[in-house]
Amino acid sequence: MSEYRNLIGGELLAAASGRTLDSVNPATGRVWARIPASGPADAEAAVAAARAAFPAWSAMPALGRAGHLRKVARIFTEHAEELARVETRDNGRILRDTLKKDLPGMTYLWELAAGQVLDAVKGDSVILGPSSMGFTRREPYGVVVCVIPWNSPISTFSGKAAHALAAGNTVILKPAEQASVSMLRLAELLADVLPPGVLNIVSGLGEEVGDALVRHPGVDKVSLTGSTETARVITRAGADALKPMTFELGGKSPNIVFADADLDAAAQGLTVNSIFTGNAGQVCVAGSRILIQRPVWDETLERVRAIAGHIRLGDPLDLATTMGPIVSPGQYDRVTGYLEIAEKEGAERVFGGRHGADALGGGPGAAEFAGGYWVEPTLYTTTDNSLRICQEEIFGPVAVAIPFDTDDEALAIANDSRYGLAAGVWTRDLARAHRFVRDLHTGNVWVNTFRQMPPGLPFGGVKDSGYGNDSLLSYTREKTAIIQL
Ligand code: NAD
Repeated sequence: MSEYRNLIGGELLAAASGRTLDSVNPATGRVWARIPASGPADAEAAVAAARAAFPAWSAMPALGRAGHLRKVARIFTEHAEELARVETRDNGRILRDTLKKDLPGMTYLWELAAGQVLDAVKGDSVILGPSSMGFTRREPYGVVVCVIPWNSPISTFSGKAAHALAAGNTVILKPAEQASVSMLRLAELLADVLPPGVLNIVSGLGEEVGDALVRHPGVDKVSLTGSTETARVITRAGADALKPMTFELGGKSPNIVFADADLDAAAQGLTVNSIFTGNAGQVCVAGSRILIQRPVWDETLERVRAIAGHIRLGDPLDLATTMGPIVSPGQYDRVTGYLEIAEKEGAERVFGGRHGADALGGGPGAAEFAGGYWVEPTLYTTTDNSLRICQEEIFGPVAVAIPFDTDDEALAIANDSRYGLAAGVWTRDLARAHRFVRDLHTGNVWVNTFRQMPPGLPFGGVKDSGYGNDSLLSYTREKTAIIQL
C-alpha cells in the first residue's frame, strides 16, 4: 500500500494532523493507497508558501517562467505511462484514454502555455491627446487556488495550473478526495522541478481543507471544476472578500440529430465520443440528452444500440477495455438511483440497466472485479423533457433520447435546461448549423463532432454550468494607466 504526501513549499509533507484518507480502486472496490487528510493547518502552510513564492515568480522574466513550464511538460512525457496507470487505477478512467489521449495532450498543453507566456503581459494602448496616453497591463492575481473533481485530474489540473503559472500566479491545487493519487505522484515528480512554493498540492476533504483554502484571506482567486452545489457553497465562502472565482460545472448537454445528418458520424458522436465509453459517462460535457428528428428516430436508435453493444466493460488497465467503472460507492448509488427514477417516471428502456457485477456479464476476470462499481451503457426514451432524468445531471453512462419534428422544437427542448455547458448538432445544412450555434444557450457548440476541447480555445459554461474559463488571460487582471506628459 503506497502512502502519499502533500507538496508544500517544495517539501513533501504528511497532513499536520497525521490523518489520512483511503483511496479506493473503483474497479475492485479495494483500498490501494493512502492520502493526507489535510485540514486548516495545512491550508495555512500552503497559502504561506504560495505567498512567499509569488514575488519572485511573478517578477521572473516571462521566458524564465516558460523554461520552468517546459520542464513540467517533459515530466509528463517522461512519466506518461506511470502517471496514466496511476490515474486509471485511482479513478477507473480507462488506460486507453489516460495513456493514449490525456498524457500526450498534457505535454502539448504545457508547451503551449510556455509559448503563450508573453501574451500574459500584453495590453492595449490609446492615444488620448497630444500629450496624454492610456494603456493597460495584465497582471497576475497572486495566489490561485484550483479545486478539481475526480474524473480527469491530470487534464483538469493542467488546464488550470499551466495557465495560472504562465500568467505569473502561484498555485495551490486541491484534488478531489476520491482521486488524488495521480496529483500526489505528480507532486513527488515536480518537487524539485519548480521553485519551492510556486505549486503546492494539498489533498483532503472539500469541506475541510477545501473550505479553509477558498475562504483564506491570502488567496486571491479560486478556480473550481466541480458541481453547481459546491460552486454555490464556495461563492458564499468568498463573498465577504469579494473573491474572484471561475466555475466550470455540470451539464445536461443535448446532442441533436437532424434527418439530413451523416448518421454514421452522428451515431459515433452520440455514443463513444459522448457518454458511454471513456469515463463511463462521468464527463461534464456528456451528451446525456439525445434529440432525434422523427424521420431518423428508429434508424438512429438502432445504430446507437449496435455501437453500445460492442462496448467492453472491465479492467480499466487493459487497453482492450472501452468502458470502466463508476468512481465511488456514492456516485454508484447516485447513478443506479437514477435508473430507478427513470423506471418510475415511465421512461422506456431501449437497452442497458444492469449494474454491479451483473453488468460485467461474467466474462474472464469478472470475479476479480466483482467488487467494483459497474453500470452498463443504458438508454431510455421519452417525449417529456421535464422528467428528472432529462433535467438532472446523472454523471454516468445513462442517456435519454427525445424525438422532435422541427428546428424550433429542437431548440426549445435543448434550451429547456438549468444547465448550459455544451451541445452537439448533427446536420449538413450550413444555415441551420449557424442558427443553432447562435441560439443554443450553452458555452460550447459542436457541429458534426462532439467533445472536442483543444487547448488554445476557451472552454466554459453558462447558467448553472458556471462562468469564466481557464484560459491564460482568465488568470490575469487588467490595470489601466493614463500618463499625462
Ligand atoms: P464536487 O463539487 O463534489 O467536488 C469538486 C471538488 O470540490 C472536490 O475537490 C471537492 O473536494 C471540492 N469541494 C467540495 N466542497 C467544497 C468546499 N465546501 N470548499 C472547497 N472545495 C470543496 O464535484 P464532484 O462530484 O467531485 O465532480 C462532479 C461534478 O463536476 C459534476 O457536476 C461535473 O459535471 C462537474 N465537472 C465539470 C467539468 C467542467 O469542466 N465543466 C469537468 C468535470 C466535472
